[in-house]
Amino acid sequence: MAEMAHLVAARLRGLGASVELCPTSGHPVVYGEIDAGAPRTLVFYNHYDVQPPEPLDEWTAPPFGAEIRDGRIYARGVADNKGNLLTRLQATECWLRGAGSVPCNLRFVFEGEEEIGSPHLEEFTHRYGERLKGAVGVVWESGGKDASGRPAISCGVKGICYVELTARAANQDLHSSQAAIVPNPAWRLVEALHALKDVAADRCLVGGFYDAVRAPTATELALLRENPLEEQRMKANWGIDAFINGLTGLELSTKLLFQPTCTICGITSGYGGPGTKTVLPKVARAKIDCRLVPDQRATDIAAKIRAHLDARGFRDVGMEVLSAENPSQSPVDGALAQAALAAARATYGEDVRLQPRGAGTGPMFLFKEELGLDCVSGMGCGHAGAHVHAPDENVFVEDYFGTVAHVGRLLGGLGCARARRARGRQGGDVRSAPAA
Ligand SMILES: [Zn+2]
Repeated sequence: MAEMAHLVAARLRGLGASVELCPTSGHPVVYGEIDAGAPRTLVFYNHYDVQPPEPLDEWTAPPFGAEIRDGRIYARGVADNKGNLLTRLQATECWLRGAGSVPCNLRFVFEGEEEIGSPHLEEFTHRYGERLKGAVGVVWESGGKDASGRPAISCGVKGICYVELTARAANQDLHSSQAAIVPNPAWRLVEALHALKDVAADRCLVGGFYDAVRAPTATELALLRENPLEEQRMKANWGIDAFINGLTGLELSTKLLFQPTCTICGITSGYGGPGTKTVLPKVARAKIDCRLVPDQRATDIAAKIRAHLDARGFRDVGMEVLSAENPSQSPVDGALAQAALAAARATYGEDVRLQPRGAGTGPMFLFKEELGLDCVSGMGCGHAGAHVHAPDENVFVEDYFGTVAHVGRLLGGLGCARARRARGRQGGDVRSAPAA
């Protein structure tokens, strides 16, 4: 991790940025500044950490070799998120080489703990937040083309409350004949899980769970209507006949992006291997994630889950909060979102989707809700078959350069205010963004 942080810092210094390795209780944040004396400042948020590459035998190229084959680059992190990180640096480099300066001031925030839930990023935003305030906004780390090859810009993320529930009984695994007289923690856990959700209605039963859920605005609904999900393709890809409760159309997109979830991510207890083993387990665990929407708060939801379990008689079931991140939403008609959309259309053509938010999670809240900076996501080189977090992670070389151009054009677009003013004074030409 330290080696990677130093590599990123060196690359940033090569652009003439002033760079600091900001220590946190975990891995450092690489922070860079380029001041061009421009009226506007833009922040880039990316991460230099990646998921582990295992299972190694399922890769067709070395995970850290960055092999280029058939128009694709194969490497762990090439889509999530080292590839995107580098497109920000190369777009900056294009401006510096082509025009001699960047059209807006830049702030680079490259953290090293995104893949484990950004547990210490708040230490950075608390200490360095003042240096970011007043920026036009934050270009988020992720993004790419959907299954039909269309780029998608979005302005928000869901939050997450990830908990582990533990039920215990005897102090050791027992012969299952003792089940006649000794409680089984696996059954106890199943009862507790059952108390959390009405599966038929697909509703979380935790008291107050939906209280803070904000309905989509008219503009957000219009965007959902304009950009329906590719239902047939999604169902075919995943091998399912129907979505939950037969949802389709606008109801389906609204459920995906504007409703929270309560999901059993995994259950472990006793023996799960081949054949039989007659055992009465001593412990049972379940991992649960709730994807949250504005204005739910992760710690509030965790407290509500605990209170709900207690009220339903499950005080004996332990609960540990493993991850808590709040959701975040920036306006889809904000200056940054519209500039990113215009730059996307100039790069890829008119067929670009703008959607209110993604269904995933990231620490946008620290920038938007705490520092007041709008965030825009989707300026990335990923694609539907990028195998993010999996073996053979890849991006198309063409999409990589497309993203460099997209980011470069965004800088140019945001810098127009300055160019227009300069032209007004001197009668000069507006400089256009250099090609990637
Ligand atoms: Zn990731």
